[in-house]
Amino acid sequence: CLERVEKAKDLQAIVTLNDELCKIKAAALDAKREELSGDELGPLHGIPVAVKDNFSTAGIRTTCASRILSDYVPNYTATAVQKLLSAGGLLLAKTNMDEFAMGAGSVESHMGEVRNPWNTDRVAGGSSGGSIVSVACGAVFAALGSDTGGSVRNPACFCGVVGYKPSYGLISRHGLISLENSMDTVGIAARYVDDVAYILDIIAGWDAKDSTSVKRPVDKVQLDEEPSVKGLNVGIPYDFHAPGTSREVIDEWSRIADEFERAGANVVSASLPSTQFGIDAYYVLCKSEVASNMARYDGIEYGFRSNGESTEQLYASTRAIGLNDAVRERILAGNYFLLSRNYKKYYEKAQKVRRKIANEFNDTFNSGIDVLLTPAVLEPAPRFDWFKDSRNRVKSQDHDIYTITVNLAGLPAVVVPTGLNKENLPIGLQLITPYLNDVKLLNIAKWLE
Ligand code: GLN
Repeated sequence: CLERVEKAKDLQAIVTLNDELCKIKAAALDAKREELSGDELGPLHGIPVAVKDNFSTAGIRTTCASRILSDYVPNYTATAVQKLLSAGGLLLAKTNMDEFAMGAGSVESHMGEVRNPWNTDRVAGGSSGGSIVSVACGAVFAALGSDTGGSVRNPACFCGVVGYKPSYGLISRHGLISLENSMDTVGIAARYVDDVAYILDIIAGWDAKDSTSVKRPVDKVQLDEEPSVKGLNVGIPYDFHAPGTSREVIDEWSRIADEFERAGANVVSASLPSTQFGIDAYYVLCKSEVASNMARYDGIEYGFRSNGESTEQLYASTRAIGLNDAVRERILAGNYFLLSRNYKKYYEKAQKVRRKIANEFNDTFNSGIDVLLTPAVLEPAPRFDWFKDSRNRVKSQDHDIYTITVNLAGLPAVVVPTGLNKENLPIGLQLITPYLNDVKLLNIAKWLE
């Protein structure tokens, strides 16, 4: 794994390499292996994993790829990460991301821009680009990211790995630095669906430290040896067909729908008409929550502090230097949406759209559809230079259309790589199931991979 980390250095996937501590822990685990029998070893005994740099890790800096937290070392560890460590996992790296998980390309980072391992002129996707690239390069066997609006599924699709977003609340968010509390989830990336399920089994479950966490739906997450999709009702939401979707993605979508049919599934059409309002609703809600969450970075309690003659000036200058444009733009917009005179017009309306989107998903599933098959992004990995140009920032959000409504509704979804295009770039598709049907979702994904 360390050799692969070294080889992939130019992709800038890693913010902090934890190799020394890993070597010490690996040696300790080796010694233990002699003493213990097979079942006494933790399920991740000696397995290298990576986590996005917005998960708090005691004693290891946690930067959110921001200047403002570039020297911040938490004194506690996020629950999901702690569970990986307690299972014997080696935390090899904290990975690069868009600053505070705001973005979809991993180019808005104070720690360098992440590149796509398949073609370095392309973006890796984001915001969990570093975690996904670490998996794609074989530097780790699995990685955690955060998925608030597609941030695990989008890069998974661009880099050809499996990217899973759980039902909201299935995995504790304790210690995951908040972007948007009402939608943040801990996502898992790995090369195989079985590995995703293996990690899910370790980290899922209720946590007293996260009041939004729920009991896990089954005691043990275990996938079928040979999952079948026979008799399954697979919905194709035609109004998911967003403008700008490339021909190759549409062709792949219908090719896989045919495969489901050949395997005995019933492929039927589904309707989710409010999808078109998803991006607008998401960004109003996200920015509003961001305005509140980011208030704590004032230069007093955490990390970087600038100078100022008055307290006001100190705040202003700390935030102007410490946070990037994309983050400050969201804080500004969020505060605008939350002004008492604007609240009804933006925030309240966005909440109504959110409810409508969730209801449409529920109606679809209640009509007998087991799973939805959709694209995950508009096209294979876009050009790096285009993405990097801040004039394209708003346009680049168009990619979120396929992933974002899933977060608005709190549902589980997974992106599975299904092929390569002519330029050798990965293509993948997304599966969505009802709330807490995560095991069923992963079984179908395993059939598809
Ligand atoms: N593109 C979304 C955003 O910028 C994704 C965020 C996420 O999932 N962390 O808000």
